[in-house]
Amino acid sequence: MTATTPAYAWLNGRLVPWDQCVVHARSQGAFWGANVFEGIRVYTGPGEGELSAFRVRDHLERLRRSMKSLHMEIDHTDDELARACDDLVLANDFGTDAHVCVVAYFGLGPNFDPLAHTTETGVHITSTPVPRSAAFAAGVSASISSWRRIGNDAMPPRIKTGANYHNSRLAQHEAVRNGFDTTLLLNARGTVAEAPGSCVVMVRDGELITPPGTSGVLEGITVDTVATLAREQLGIPLHRREIDRTELYVCDELFLCGTMSELLPITSVDRLPVGDGTPGALTRALQDHYTDAVRNRGAHPEWCTPVARAAGDGPTGAVRASEEALA
Ligand code: PMP
Repeated sequence: MTATTPAYAWLNGRLVPWDQCVVHARSQGAFWGANVFEGIRVYTGPGEGELSAFRVRDHLERLRRSMKSLHMEIDHTDDELARACDDLVLANDFGTDAHVCVVAYFGLGPNFDPLAHTTETGVHITSTPVPRSAAFAAGVSASISSWRRIGNDAMPPRIKTGANYHNSRLAQHEAVRNGFDTTLLLNARGTVAEAPGSCVVMVRDGELITPPGTSGVLEGITVDTVATLAREQLGIPLHRREIDRTELYVCDELFLCGTMSELLPITSVDRLPVGDGTPGALTRALQDHYTDAVRNRGAHPEWCTPVARAAGDGPTGAVRASEEALA
């Protein structure tokens, strides 16, 4: 247990104490990673005491697409899941930015067979306090992984399932053992795919470039936000085309983008400095626009959903509901 252990989690329809958010060890979700999930950020602001969830509906839509690909159905609507996220965040009351994980998992299945077809599913939601990383300003070092990114013909990265993160884990742990902060994976063709948990964007000769959705990447929501901000705020389009490994050695700027990592400058690749080895001007400008967008000070208020108590709840409604759940 750490000091920051959250008080509550959400499991199959109700708030529960964190320690009681458990699924059976032999469920297909826990045993084989047969689940789909989304990570969503909740930001403080724009006003004192206000909270908003960033692009929560887009995350829930992607969750549905992942579920569809796995022939998975759950007992909850998107409205219920969004409400559950709000209740959980309000109950935990972290007082800082939070990260919310919504996981839909397959249950035990017939005969405890991890491969058996089952319609038994459940959903758990957890949230943790996650303030902005110090690397947002300082940047990170990256290697090129010796591991290849999984491909659409075997483990489709477009489906955001826990099982895919075995590949991410192998790559990330190798990089950290070798003294890097993170790593970039190439796909089976040898072109750049993505980082273990983020998309990657390169700046070359003033152009913004990211690998296409067919390069072995998750279809990122943050990279879509970056594309919109770059076009609208800076008049620069984001091109989607394959990127060679050696382009990373000679590019001007490079950054990761993901819900958790936000926009993280990559300051070196394979120990070669990116540009002058410090976060570049375009990266910093996009970071500023991103900060305005997520804190609901930007041109897209529709991206920010206020985290609100359910209608009829008093000021302590969510906490009261959770206390009832504990009773
Ligand atoms: N790729 C992978 C493998 C990821 O896990 C993530 C994080 N969800 C991303 C890319 C970035 O996606 P998003 O911007 O939608 O968070």
